[in-house]
Amino acid sequence: MEDQAHKQFSVYDLQAEIATEAVPSLGDGVPCDKNPGHHNFIPYDEFELHHLPEHYRTEKLYRYLKDIGNSVVRLTVTCEDGSMRFGSGIVMKYRGKLYIYTNNHVVETDQQAKNCLVEFYYDGEESFPIQTRASGLMHTFADTDKSMLILQKIPSGFQHDFMPDSGRCRAVIKTKTNDGTETSVRGLACVHNNIFSIVLRQSSEISWTEELVKEASIYFREFDDGERIYAKCSSILEADTDRVYLTLDPVPDMIKAELEKEQHFWDFDEQKLALPIAITHPHGGPKMVTIGQKIIVEKKEDEGVVLQHSAPTCGGSSGGAVIAVGEDNRVRGLYAYSYLHCKGKKVTKLVSNPKTDSDNYNTSSLSIWL
Ligand SMILES: [Zn+2]
Repeated sequence: MEDQAHKQFSVYDLQAEIATEAVPSLGDGVPCDKNPGHHNFIPYDEFELHHLPEHYRTEKLYRYLKDIGNSVVRLTVTCEDGSMRFGSGIVMKYRGKLYIYTNNHVVETDQQAKNCLVEFYYDGEESFPIQTRASGLMHTFADTDKSMLILQKIPSGFQHDFMPDSGRCRAVIKTKTNDGTETSVRGLACVHNNIFSIVLRQSSEISWTEELVKEASIYFREFDDGERIYAKCSSILEADTDRVYLTLDPVPDMIKAELEKEQHFWDFDEQKLALPIAITHPHGGPKMVTIGQKIIVEKKEDEGVVLQHSAPTCGGSSGGAVIAVGEDNRVRGLYAYSYLHCKGKKVTKLVSNPKTDSDNYNTSSLSIWL
């Protein structure tokens, strides 16, 4: 039955979800084929603990979602031809600075970035958003559909201490291959089974042995003060066909501090099913929270890890956050994957297993850690 459903359906039919006009409210008056009436949409400023399904209802998860939700912004883009486009974005931290992450199909060019209004805290019909602007593109990639915008200004009081810095935990491991040649490979600092470690992809070049591990040195990229942080590897914590986890000696303080920001997820019960929660600006209107089900998680060559899910989204949701809670993910100790919402489509009872509670079939790609 599931196979049959997938045969009728291609993810390439999914559409980018931008809006060409913005609505002040998602009331019944908003025409929408995908989610008529928007009944399952919770205004962000009314989102409370009890909205979470009972199985997931914890204060720490709720706090985490609110932290991320406060980082979701509305983007208003004026294109080169004068047309307007509305989408969503997420604040992210990279090497100590804050940027906006969104889709390439929301902001494609440097000029569009310069003509992009960024609104924080557009959380409900009665809210008072704080406006700022982007000053240009940091980078954009059409193939992976991601853009990173430089911000002119961050609203004063914007909380970001909790945000992991996506640049800080990236490591370069200098080691030798089994034939003795010097080489370097990339890794990521993480917490695995409550132990600070470095996770690397297995490669055909290196077959990790305890001897090889003891010769490996770890470098982290340079930081604000220009100092390099250095550690040795001490042992193999765990290895499977995809990944190897190496322990660090010593664990640099900066890495500890970064990873401790996610400590509330270290002991998350990974047996819990993934719960996708989307926080976006549908129809270019106030921020909304929707909850759905995971349909499938796939690893794709071009897009990386992609989550197909049923959390309702509409035009304007592109670039918003989709948090999949409870996925069996150990990288950086997080048990919540963060995805950038990309595309969606209305379907009708197409996917029967697992059964979805909405007729939305959407896709989001794994991009950043929030
Ligand atoms: Zn809609």
